[in-house]
Amino acid sequence: MKVLVIGSGGREHAIVLKLKQSPLVTEIFCAPGNGGIGIHAICLPCAATDIDGLVKIAKEKNIDLTVVGMEDPLILGIVDEFEKHGLKIFGPSKKAAEIEGSKVYSKNLMKKYKIPTACSESFNNYDDALRFITNKIHPLVIKADGLAAGKGVVITSNIEESQAALYEIMVDKKFGVSGEYVVIEDYLTGREISVLAFCDGNTVVPMASAQDHKRALDGDKGLNTGGMGAFSPSLFYSENIAKECMDKIFLPTVNALKSEGRPFKGVIYFGLMLTDTGVKVIEYNCRFGDPEAQVVLPRLNGDLYKVIVACCEGRLHEQDIKWSDDTVCCVMLASGGYPEKYTIGKLITGLDKVTDPNVVVYHSGTKFNETGFLTSGGRVLGITARGDNMDEAVKKAYENVMKINFENMQYRKDIGCNQ
Ligand code: ATP
Repeated sequence: MKVLVIGSGGREHAIVLKLKQSPLVTEIFCAPGNGGIGIHAICLPCAATDIDGLVKIAKEKNIDLTVVGMEDPLILGIVDEFEKHGLKIFGPSKKAAEIEGSKVYSKNLMKKYKIPTACSESFNNYDDALRFITNKIHPLVIKADGLAAGKGVVITSNIEESQAALYEIMVDKKFGVSGEYVVIEDYLTGREISVLAFCDGNTVVPMASAQDHKRALDGDKGLNTGGMGAFSPSLFYSENIAKECMDKIFLPTVNALKSEGRPFKGVIYFGLMLTDTGVKVIEYNCRFGDPEAQVVLPRLNGDLYKVIVACCEGRLHEQDIKWSDDTVCCVMLASGGYPEKYTIGKLITGLDKVTDPNVVVYHSGTKFNETGFLTSGGRVLGITARGDNMDEAVKKAYENVMKINFENMQYRKDIGCNQ
């Protein structure tokens, strides 16, 4: 079978590598892919948001299955378009993808179906939003409604900060139309965990749990990033918590989307907070998380291709999905300055020294030319190691981090520590 993977990050590299293990998969294409993905798949120079271009590729190459890694094409409606052309594709429809594309939509859905989440109000008028925050106890969380590359959420400690955040989003339009509406919600405290789940519209099967490290600097300091590292499993995701999540969050969410006429097929990402009053949803994403995919997919004992096809065909209940007992830890190497200004085009050395079969280097922002692998993005490489336990996985990941270098390389030293 020929598979096309859409996206260009470490998540797509992990998807490609897992699909490659399937005896049913004969050829993998990736659009647009990156330097590292190019070792395992044929990369095609087509942007992930060029839906017409991707339909053309799928037809020309006789692709049997397309797997969408990134959110942008899903929110633009790539699945509806592919299905219109009779092409098999894994991911939610445009309407179902709105659970990530609009925080106002997802909060309303949670309210309507009583799915536990932080109390919130939505506004599309600056003066109304301002009046609301003046009576609120801080800290507060202010979120732009639409996609904002992970930067549309501000935690504010007082009225002045809330006012400034609202002004930036709603008046200065820092995030353009994504900030036409804002969600203002109560600040929750607790452990954050991520659970991804396969879904075929009816059945939901959670994957192994994970935790990611969003902040740029050690000790969870600095700016929010796309993720500086992750590990799986989360030690806090006990059987009791898993049951609570299934009963109060996972099934109700999937059933709610079905009731709303937006059945969800694909990977649904539950960003969760374990609070003193139970587990609450922080956010939904409509696809694999990055870097969560890099630590969860290696633990899948089985054929990802088969599971995905079963999701597409509404047969997920037939699958017996198992996870390995080990721990996987991913340390992200980033360009100096990320998530703010950084430079690219730096030569990466030492990749050939990573020879341990329990270590994989997933490429996020790299390209390959005659000089070798060069940096091409903020997040560059995910050094990912598996071990019998957390200590072993973390140690192995960092031993291999030390083998790799590029100018101004930046990474956190505490991934998987102090959990
Ligand atoms: P992502 O890059 O994960 O897609 P996003 O822009 O969709 O992020 P959220 O996941 O909603 O935004 O929030 C980003 C981070 O802000 C969360 O991971 C969490 O740490 C923090 N956060 C969000 N909502 C709350 C809340 N109600 N209480 C406390 N912290 C919160």
